[in-house]
Amino acid sequence: MTELIDRFGRKHTYLRISVTDRCNLRCLYCMPEEGMKFMEQDRLLSYSQIVEVAAAAVRLGMRKFRITGGEPLVRPGLEQLIAGIAALPGVDDISLTTNGLLLKQQAFKLKEAGLKRVNISLDTMDDVRFKFIARRGELKRVWEGIEAAVEAGLGPIKLNCVLLKGVNEDEIGRFLKLSMERPIHVRFIEYMPIGHDDAGWRSHYLPLSAVLEEARRLGYVLQQEEGPQGSGPSENWRIAGGVGSFGLIHPISEHFCKSCNRLRLTADGHIKPCLYWMDELSVRPALGSLEAMERLFLKAMDVKPENHEMAAVLAGTPLSHEPTERRMSQIGG
Ligand code: SAM
Ligand code: SF4
Repeated sequence: MTELIDRFGRKHTYLRISVTDRCNLRCLYCMPEEGMKFMEQDRLLSYSQIVEVAAAAVRLGMRKFRITGGEPLVRPGLEQLIAGIAALPGVDDISLTTNGLLLKQQAFKLKEAGLKRVNISLDTMDDVRFKFIARRGELKRVWEGIEAAVEAGLGPIKLNCVLLKGVNEDEIGRFLKLSMERPIHVRFIEYMPIGHDDAGWRSHYLPLSAVLEEARRLGYVLQQEEGPQGSGPSENWRIAGGVGSFGLIHPISEHFCKSCNRLRLTADGHIKPCLYWMDELSVRPALGSLEAMERLFLKAMDVKPENHEMAAVLAGTPLSHEPTERRMSQIGG
């Protein structure tokens, strides 16, 4: 079998699929509050076209798929896509990243369609602050979504928490406590400069060493461990005696490009070899031909760069080429 191995010897087994750039929130680190221009509906790949792309990926050794967005649950009938991917022989894992607002209504039918796990984004446990960060929606509905995911058997539940200096860094302790008291994996994520003005990003960027410092300040004894299924680049820890665990995803303070095993498919049908850079390949010319689609994936291996340069943005040093103009909501995280 031909495998997806790039110029740096990295084998690719993981595809992140964005199904929409639309969202029912406007998180301040992801998209502007007003004036976001969304993709025309006819530019989105249909579910059957996405399954076609996934089928070529599986033939090349991709085993793990994640559905993301924008907010994936705002696109109607998502269970049809999940079922289509789950039916491909060779798929080991299908997961979803969501803000959780619509999960209560959809958790059971997604599970039934073949979804294995969910990551739910939660950056604060405070109602007022939720409105400040997400600008819309209600924290209560996210918690209902989390409970529904547990009931539907979509565990192990992971909570994605983007840490922002001066915004939610004072909640690190609360999230650590949550990881101790509930069978939840809290993933602290460094704020990334994707489609942002650099100065705004720099003022809120917080290196995740802050999490370990806070844990030690609180007197917790920490154990480093493997982490739950699908932990990817996360560095994983458990507070001694805790029922849950926590992870650190630090693409800037300590990048993990050496072990990158992922490609991304945007909702408008582009393969992005790297989250950070401009380069992308349209799948449209290859639709209808499995061979052409496989060739496109192999081409993505030729253009995949060795690493991103987000740390250079922090240092203010020049970049080697153009970063993407897409916002995170137009890529999928
Ligand atoms: N709407 C879904 C959600 O929020 O979970 C899925 C899409 S969202 C783009 C995927 C993940 O990217 C979320 O966990 C979100 O917190 C994270 N994210 C968005 N913008 C980010 C940024 N600038 N830096 C780091 N993470 C970001
Ligand atoms: Fe929407 Fe997710 Fe972006 Fe927040 S992070 S605006 S929920 S796509």
